[in-house]
Amino acid sequence: MSNFAEISDSRLLLSHIFIAVMKYALVTGGSRGIGRAICLKLASDGYPVIVNYKSNAEEASRTVNMIREKGGEAEALQFDVKNAAEVEACLTDWENRHPDDYVSVLVNNAGIRHDNVMFMMSDDEWHSVIDTTLDGFFYVTRFLLRHMMPRRRQGRIINVASLSGLKGLPGQANYSAAKAALIGATKALAQEVAARDVTVNAVAPGFIDTDMTRDLNHDELKELVPMKRFGTADEVAALVSFLAGDSAAYITGEVISINGGLYT
Ligand code: NAP
Repeated sequence: MSNFAEISDSRLLLSHIFIAVMKYALVTGGSRGIGRAICLKLASDGYPVIVNYKSNAEEASRTVNMIREKGGEAEALQFDVKNAAEVEACLTDWENRHPDDYVSVLVNNAGIRHDNVMFMMSDDEWHSVIDTTLDGFFYVTRFLLRHMMPRRRQGRIINVASLSGLKGLPGQANYSAAKAALIGATKALAQEVAARDVTVNAVAPGFIDTDMTRDLNHDELKELVPMKRFGTADEVAALVSFLAGDSAAYITGEVISINGGLYT
C-alpha cells in the first residue's frame, strides 16, 4: 500500500517536474514592428515570450504589457545582438534565473536599414547593418543551440530575412548582403541540426508597414506590389507562428516569401 503511495507520489513529483519545464520563445528586436507582432502571436500560441530590444525600453515594456493584458507571460531582455559579450552575459544570466526552462523557439528578427548608394556608403553604414543581422544571428543562435541540441533535442529557429536578400535592391547593398548571407546561413544550419529535430527557416518579407519603412514613399512603392499595398506585421507574425508550430515539423532550410506577389 505504502509502495503504491510512494510510486504515485513520485509520479506526481515527476509530472510536476515535467510541467515545471517551460518552453520559451525569444524574439530579438521584439520591442516594435514585426518583432512585437511576433511576440504577441507566439504568446497567444501559449509561449512565455522573451522580448529582446536594444535601446527602446519603453516600447519593449509596452510589448510585455500588451501580452500580460491578454493573459500571456512575457519579460523584456535588453541586449545588443551584435555584441558577443552582451549576448553571452544576458542569456547566461537568464538561464541562471530559469534553471529548468529553455528557449525552444528563437526568432532572429532584429535588423536595421542604413540605405545609401554604394559609392557614398560609409564604413559604419556597411558594418552596422551587416553586423546587426549577421553577427546578431550568429551570437544568439550559437548560444541557444548549445542547449537546444544536446539536452533538449528540439527547437525552431526562424530568421527574418527580406525580399532585398533574394532580389537585391538598389541603395541597399549592405542590407541585401546581410539578408542574403542570413539566407545562406539558414540553409547551412538547417542541415547541421536537422537530425536533432531543430528546424531552421527564413521568412522574406517585402514592404511591411512599420517604423523601418516610415520614411519611404508608400504611394509610389505600393504601385510596384501586385497586391497594391504594404503587408502588415501581423501577417508576417502569422507565418512565423506557423513555422514555430507542430504543423511545420518537416519544413526546414526554406525561405518563405511574404510580399504581396512582388517577387515570384
Ligand atoms: P523596426 O520597426 O525598425 O524594429 C526594429 C527592431 O529591432 C526594434 O525592436 C529594435 O530595438 C531592434 N533592434 C535593432 N537593432 C538591434 C540590436 N543591435 N540588438 C537588439 N535589437 C535590435 O523594424 P521592423 O520593420 O519591425 O523589422 C524587423 C525585421 O524585419 C528586421 O530584421 C528587418 O530587416 C526585417 N524586414 C522588415 C521589412 C519591412 O518592410 N519593415 C521588410 C523585410 C524585412 P529598439 O526598439 O530597442 O530600437
